[in-house]
Amino acid sequence: MEIKDYVSNRKEMIKRDIVSLVIKPHLVIIQVNDDDASNAYIKGKLKDAAEVNIDASLIKLSSNISEEELISLIKSKNADSSVHGLIVQMPLPQQIDENKIKLAIDPAKDVDGFHPQSLYDPCTPKGIINYLKEEKFDFSGKNAVVIGRSNIVGKPTAKLLLKENCNVTVLHSKTSFEDMNFYLAHADIIVVAIGKKWFLNNQILKSSAVVIDVGINREDGKLFGDAKPSLKVKLQTPVPGGVGLLTRITLIENLLEAYKNAI
Ligand code: NAP
Repeated sequence: MEIKDYVSNRKEMIKRDIVSLVIKPHLVIIQVNDDDASNAYIKGKLKDAAEVNIDASLIKLSSNISEEELISLIKSKNADSSVHGLIVQMPLPQQIDENKIKLAIDPAKDVDGFHPQSLYDPCTPKGIINYLKEEKFDFSGKNAVVIGRSNIVGKPTAKLLLKENCNVTVLHSKTSFEDMNFYLAHADIIVVAIGKKWFLNNQILKSSAVVIDVGINREDGKLFGDAKPSLKVKLQTPVPGGVGLLTRITLIENLLEAYKNAI
């Protein structure tokens, strides 16, 4: 099933579940940076929330805010029982340590899954695994290659693939050209998350491989993935309209989990 149809089915199901609730799940989004990418991501999150009838509030702050002021606001939302999920849109201005902010959010409300003790898996990796399960992808014993080792995508994706019994290899910027080609040629599933337009292009890949393209690269107002479209593989997720949608629906799903945990 195409990702857009999968996501739209999930939204319909969530909407049906929410209709009967007297108190709606409530997501608070804190925005500090006013850049185009952050604005676009937040717009998408608010649109999803409205579509499934959950409450979402945006708190937009000045980019001059101090770390202490931001942490104090987070603490007040942690203590507010009407808030079920709390996210701070990244990246943050230089004067604020992103790590401290991630650690300030109550792990029970951390629906982004960025806190090490968060009760929820990060949205992008979880969304990818859930979609592949829906596609009946047989993970067990498969060679999975994850390119990129960030804390929000690469590492947690590798962890979840391992949990599904894949043989997982994580590659990164220090991987040699030869090794990159070697591992890719043997991969049954490739998750590419590096932020380099069409990095995956003319390498030799299995025709039965599944390519999950996480990359979002902006060029002349257009979005491009980390993989060139139409690779000769069994399944390749598109950009836009691919992993980004999976990430967004998983945020809503994590919020519903947080809501259930709270009540
Ligand atoms: P990040 O924190 O910038 O990390 C990039 C990773 O890619 C690093 O581990 C880096 O290796 C590796 N890398 C960079 N150049 C490489 C190369 N030439 N060969 C192999 N590895 C290379 O990235 P991120 O936050 O995970 O994001 C990655 C991409 O996914 C970005 O385009 C981002 O916009 C996108 N993204 C999309 C979604 C979505 O929902 N679709 C969600 C999150 C992120 P080192 O560790 O060695 O430096």
